[in-house]
Formats: sequence, C-alpha cells, structure tokens
Amino acid sequence: MNRKRRAQPLEMLRPPRLDPAAGAGPVQPRYALLVNPFYPKDPNASYGKHVLTPTLALTSFAAATPSQWQLGYWDENLLDGRPPFVPMPEVVGITVHLTFAKRAFELARWYRARGSKVVLGGLHVMSCPGECAPHADALAIGDGVQLWPRILADVEAGRLAGRYEAGYESDYRLDPPPRRSILPRSRFLTTTSLIATRGCHNRCGFCYLATEGLRLPYRMRDPGQVAAEFASDGQPYAVFLDNNLGSNRPYLRALCEALRPLERIWSAAVSIDVTDDPGLVREMALAGCTGVFVGFESLTDENLAEARKKTPKARDYGRRVGLLHENGIQVNGSFVLGFDHDTRDTFGRTVEWIEEHRLECATFHILTPYPGTPLFRRMEAEGRLLHRDWDLYDTAHAVFRPRHMTAEELEEGYAWMYGRLFSHRSIWRRRPQDWRAVAPYLAMSYLYKRSNRLWRFLIQHDLVHAVWGPLVEATRRRHLRFREKLAADGGAERRGANLVTAGV
Ligand code: SF4
Repeated sequence: MNRKRRAQPLEMLRPPRLDPAAGAGPVQPRYALLVNPFYPKDPNASYGKHVLTPTLALTSFAAATPSQWQLGYWDENLLDGRPPFVPMPEVVGITVHLTFAKRAFELARWYRARGSKVVLGGLHVMSCPGECAPHADALAIGDGVQLWPRILADVEAGRLAGRYEAGYESDYRLDPPPRRSILPRSRFLTTTSLIATRGCHNRCGFCYLATEGLRLPYRMRDPGQVAAEFASDGQPYAVFLDNNLGSNRPYLRALCEALRPLERIWSAAVSIDVTDDPGLVREMALAGCTGVFVGFESLTDENLAEARKKTPKARDYGRRVGLLHENGIQVNGSFVLGFDHDTRDTFGRTVEWIEEHRLECATFHILTPYPGTPLFRRMEAEGRLLHRDWDLYDTAHAVFRPRHMTAEELEEGYAWMYGRLFSHRSIWRRRPQDWRAVAPYLAMSYLYKRSNRLWRFLIQHDLVHAVWGPLVEATRRRHLRFREKLAADGGAERRGANLVTAGV
C-alpha cells in the first residue's frame, strides 16, 4: 500500500462490515431491495466523480417493478454504513461488475443466510456466469428491465428459476422511464442521468461493449421522450450516460432540437469524430451542451489502429478540441495507458498535450483486459496476464505485462499523471482563455480535483447537491448568455475567441 493510499479516509477504500449477528428478523413478502455494492475509490483520481449522478441500472429496474411490490434502494457508495435489513427483503437485486464482484458476493451470502432470495445481474454476470451462479438464487443475464418483472412474478408464484436471459433487441422506446423518485436527490450533483441511445458505432477491442455474448444493437429513444424526462426531473443539469451520444449524427441533431427549448445544460460522452461536422457541434452548444467526455484513448495512431478504434488521426485532435472550445463546450479527455506502442515517454507527452490544448479535465485509465473481450483473449494467448484478481481490474492497476515498460512503471506513470494534472500549476495552465470564465473554472477544478479529504464529509453529511448546486446554476445562466451570443454571431465561424463557459 503506498503512502497516498494510507492517508485516505478508510470509508473510501473499504466497504462497511456486515455484522454476522444482525438481521435475524422475518422476511417481508413482496419487498425487494436493490443494491449497488461498494467499490474502493482510487485516491489518485477525484472522489467527487462518484457522486456526480446515479447509475441508471437500479432506477430502471425500479421502474419495471410491479406496483404490488414495495421497493428499497441502497447505494453503498453513499457511505451510509451497512445495508438495511429491517424488514428483511424477500428479494435482493444486486448489480455485479468486475471490480466489486467480491463485495457483491459477500452481500449475497449475507442476505441469503437470512432468508432473502438474491438475484445477481450486470455485466460480470454476463461475462462470468459460472463464477456468479453459486452466489445467487437467480442470475439475470442481459436486459434486466425485461427480466426483473418476470423474476418477481416467479418469486410470487414460488417457481424462481436459476437463470433468466433476455437480449437487447426490444424497442428501446417501450422501456418505462427510470423511477428517480427512489433516489436521495441531495446526495448527487444531479439525479438526471439520462440515456438516449444504446450501443456504439465503434467496437474497440478493449471496451466492455466488445464482450463476447453482449449483442447490443444500436437503439435510439424518441428525442421528445428524452427531453420530457429531462424536464420532468426539474434539475438544471443532466448527464447523458450513453456510450457515445455522437454515434448517429442525424439522431444527435434531432435530440439537440428537442433539448434546446429547455434552456438547461448537459454533458455527454462522444467520440471526437463528432467534430467532423462543425455545424453539429454548434447545435449541441445551442441545445445546452457545456461539456463532453471524449475517449481520445491515445495520442499514438498505431495504438488506436491496433485497438480497432475508428477515429481521426491523433495529430488533428488539437484542432478538434479547439472547435469544441469555440462553441463553449469543455472537454474532459479520457486516455488509456499501457498500449503496446506506449513507452515511458507517453506519460509526460500526454500531459503536455493536455495542458497545451487546455483540456479542462482528463481521466486516465490503465489498459485493462476485461474478461470476454478481444483484448483479454489476446493477453491470455500471449501469456501476459499477471493474475485474475478482479478487484484489481479497476483501470488503476496494471494487471498485465506491458510491452515497453514494467507493470510497476506503468502504475507509477499513471499516478504521476494524476498528480501533475491536479497540481496548481497544471490547473492554472489549462484555464480558459476568456478571463470571465477563469473564476468558475477554478472553483470547479479545486472542488473536483483537490478536495478529496472534503468529499467524504460532503457525501456523509448530505451536502453534495448543496455544494455543487450554486455552481451548476451559475454555469447554466452563463451558458444561456453565451449561447445567445453564439446564435447571434454564427458562433463556430468565429476563430480565436475561445469563450469557454464554466460547464460541468
Ligand atoms: S468508441 Fe468508446 S464506447 Fe465506442 S466501442 Fe470504443 S471505447 Fe467503447
């Protein structure tokens, strides 16, 4: 354990203890509890990112729950201690992902020993069903929104099966809107996590979307339906959780048209090729987009080609970032480290590039071969996997032998990059060119990147929304002024005026 990890609040690193003596009460029929298990937070990155917005999985299952069932929601990452057991739920639905599979199994054991039926679902259940099966009364493999009501009906009828499967071919528009009323609103920056599309036009070899058996045909929801959902949650800011909101450009254009009248702000993940069409970038800005999360992955074309990512040449990335900035859209760049063409120079070169192009934020990920992906198969065939301790498959640890450095050097390079990115100097170097945007940018940056000690307090004392709220509202107002000007000027044609708003 390194020094940085030791100095962190334990609540961020370890799940609460499950008391072996607790929870002896009777099971309450028709009460279902949905649980998002604890995962340890990487002390190199921001703790704030874990409470930006809730996952959609549990609110979507909640929406699909028949009305005769009472429903509970428990997210262990809100640091409220041990999960509830009074009354003891008849059914406990637990999401299982690779990095918190162990915790999910621990929870499953604990509830099953007290009479609950445990249903496990999520990506890890799909990629490793054999590993999950001994911990569950039933596995939900595939689209949980279709499966959950079937499972509950079978529990009521006393005929619960061990395995339920559903594809993702259903009409996405028919899914019920997520039931956000179950969420503790004050615990997140915004509860409006939205999803408009499913799937991605790319199929990068390292991405979980390339998991064997995961057939995710590209699906789009009605833009008007998405806008109505945004409006009804009553929050000024939404986060689109789509893998790539820019996969289908005519669709994104239609969505922007539907969102524009709301006068709210939003951010989304897009691939950088969305900037092929500067007019579309402008429409995104006019519709309220203040930030994009872009998977650049690497600044080395050979790495991108080997990952089979269809993307523009890396030398053109800087110009494309400039185009987003001109339209008031902040850029959070995502970079993967440890590809076969990466060397020890990659770390410094990448951070230099981020600072030169003034990316407001960036996230780093150590290349991680997820089970079931082409990358995993290749690493396994080449004998380069170091172990199968899934806890460490969290993109913060090197779990394979890199080509041009040691695993330790890769981890050190990763930690060094975060240290540099969150330094006073780097934050200052990346400040917006428009002086009016500098103060809000600094406020956001310091809260997000340099307040890890504070985050535990904010999360545990219900202050997340209270702290972010005024900054978000100020950003929205600023954005509305900016976009008025953008609409009047023809915006994207104006070169050299980098009017970065204080987007989130
Ligand atoms: S572009 Fe992004 S979301 Fe799409 S397959 Fe590649 S990594 Fe996954």
